[in-house]
Amino acid sequence: MGLQEVRIRPLAPSHLESIIGPDRTERFEAVADAVSKLLADRMVLNVNSTATGGGVAEMLQTLLASVCGFGIDARWLVIEGSSGFFAITKRIHNHLYGMPGDGGPLGRAEHEAYEATLSANARQLVALVRPGDIVLLHDPQTAGLARSLRGAGAHVVWRCHVGLDTQNDRSRLAWDFLRPYIEDLPAFVFSCEQFAPPWLPHESLFVIPPSIDPFSAKNEPMSIPDAVRVLQRVGLLSGDADQSPGAFSRRDGPAGHVTHRVELFDTGPPPPPDVPVVLQASRWDVLKDMGGVMSGFAEHLTDMGSAHLVLAGPSVEGVADDPEAAEVLAGCLAAWRDLPRAAQHRIHLACLPMIDVEENAAILNALQRHAKVVVQKSLAEGFGLTVAEAMWKGRPVVGSAVGGIVDQIVDGETGSLLDDPSDLATFAHLVARLIADPAEAERMGRNGQRRVSERFLGDRHLQHWAQLVARQIH
Ligand code: UDP
Repeated sequence: MGLQEVRIRPLAPSHLESIIGPDRTERFEAVADAVSKLLADRMVLNVNSTATGGGVAEMLQTLLASVCGFGIDARWLVIEGSSGFFAITKRIHNHLYGMPGDGGPLGRAEHEAYEATLSANARQLVALVRPGDIVLLHDPQTAGLARSLRGAGAHVVWRCHVGLDTQNDRSRLAWDFLRPYIEDLPAFVFSCEQFAPPWLPHESLFVIPPSIDPFSAKNEPMSIPDAVRVLQRVGLLSGDADQSPGAFSRRDGPAGHVTHRVELFDTGPPPPPDVPVVLQASRWDVLKDMGGVMSGFAEHLTDMGSAHLVLAGPSVEGVADDPEAAEVLAGCLAAWRDLPRAAQHRIHLACLPMIDVEENAAILNALQRHAKVVVQKSLAEGFGLTVAEAMWKGRPVVGSAVGGIVDQIVDGETGSLLDDPSDLATFAHLVARLIADPAEAERMGRNGQRRVSERFLGDRHLQHWAQLVARQIH
């Protein structure tokens, strides 16, 4: 055990050209060339706490594939931690979002347990880095590694993917916990400026939104009939799939095939292919408010036409650093059992298999493409890659006006922003309007796709990183 290295398959510099065109590709290559020269033989090491599941793992796959494609020595290591360690880091994560999480303390004992786990990881990391290397530490789980790595001569940057639009007492508690580990770092990256704590020097702050890879199994082109076939095969739509298993691209190696079925618990039978589907796909996390989406839909069922709601997340054993997932899923299932029969018939909870992450991604691709409306009714959100993914697929998105969702959805143009995430009547009204007006949904979907193409693809992401790297090495 110990640190786990995630393999990265480089993507050729020209891989985005068919989408971004020759001029943008040229600029992309020029930026990448400049960063390569600046880095020379330095390694760029990324450290986080999970190889699969959630936005950080998704983003790292995308970004590092491009970076390696430019010949930069970028690596990705995942730390090891006990369930006790991840209980503490999940508590910090929830507090950074302004929520109590499991309600436990963040005191001296938690500092000691946090540091003990990280010092074991730090010993291994320090043996790998050379003076001058760049180390990007992701999220609270890795913040406590900074001191050791700086001691080894690395340029250390901390990237925080989570945060709250307006700090509250809980988020301040989390920042108090993290501050001694990171406060003297030269650079911090946040997805939104307002997430940064007030004590952080403005000149050290970089705001960098993540990007999606339009050719990964999650986002690659898939026709609607193919999406339907995949969803029938995994048991998310009724009807018999034909015998050909849904194929998807792998980052490495020959095409994969969708073979594993989703877990629907007792919330089937699944909808037929010809009824509209409203989708929220997220980790099972209280902050994603799957339960609120369910209530909003169920309470306004008669406004939803013939639509069904699918709430989909990864199977709960699948995400190592997320100890609360099973409990959140159990809560959603209990709430589903309390619904009237008519609502039960039209609301489905699904766990997507995580045996093969790219198969999981292909199923999600099919679901996002099949959905008529995608929602992300988070109570707080770092960025919300699920929003960009759905927009890329031409789907209108109804999302809460929190965190990075606000930077993605243009209200009335690419979807709708829900000012108050707890306002279920308005939420249901926004969703129902899109179900009732397919032409409007399609217009918004087209706008959304354009917006992602302009702002949330790898070349934009790398431009931001280039500025950050240039400021670290001069
Ligand atoms: N996701 C996935 N499989 C699932 C559910 C979600 O791969 O079964 C992905 C989703 O497509 C997105 C990521 O997990 O890429 C979630 O990222 P987001 O930024 O929306 O939220 P986070 O999980 O980081 O809070």
